[in-house]
Amino acid sequence: MKSESKHKKLAIFGGLSGCIEGATRVSANWMRWQIVRGKRLLLWETNPDVLSRWAQSVIETEILLREVTQQESFVKECIQIVNANSDPVAKAIMPDMVEELINLDHEYDRLERTYETIVDGCPTGPIKSGYLWIRSQSDWYLRSEWLRQDCINRGGCCGRSCGCCEVPPDPRRRKGWGHCTAKCACCKSLRDFQANERDKRLLQPKYDLTAFPWSHYSRQMFRAYIWSPD
Ligand SMILES: [Zn+2]
Ligand SMILES: [Zn+2]
Ligand SMILES: [Zn+2]
Repeated sequence: MKSESKHKKLAIFGGLSGCIEGATRVSANWMRWQIVRGKRLLLWETNPDVLSRWAQSVIETEILLREVTQQESFVKECIQIVNANSDPVAKAIMPDMVEELINLDHEYDRLERTYETIVDGCPTGPIKSGYLWIRSQSDWYLRSEWLRQDCINRGGCCGRSCGCCEVPPDPRRRKGWGHCTAKCACCKSLRDFQANERDKRLLQPKYDLTAFPWSHYSRQMFRAYIWSPD
């Protein structure tokens, strides 16, 4: 049992390796000190199961916040098109779209509360302060080369010249800023098909930080979302 825990801790530690280089490029001694403390805690004090469950929840919730924000933007675009259209058949779907917008607004509020509860429940100090420090920079997701490449690999806007990821869809929805999800209006307009299961896996490959050993993709997700400011 003890050796299983040790292996999990080493898996998480492996997820952090390489981040020092990125951190020193971006920031100074404070971040380096945080990393040293984080490693010490990971190796000696942190329960890897608690940390991996927390990381999985926070990443899942952040992706859901982006999905809701991007879907809102899509519905608003549709409303503008219908508004500009005099066809009564098109006008007839307006109440449904307004209702969807209201539901999405409630869903965003609910997810935002969930997110804040999850962040408050972060099990360790250095992990939490490092994570909050990264999130305090509004363009954190644009600084990560891995996240940009992941967006391209998933068929997102970083692979095109539209620049959607650089321009957040709604300035009030800061927790919904980030790279494309399956709900991105711009990506949807280029996908003239209903996504099947294989396509959905491509739009968001599987990651499960609660399943050890971590897959390569899970390790990269942990590093990009939780720890690395590069
Ligand atoms: Zn785009
Ligand atoms: Zn997109
Ligand atoms: Zn992107």
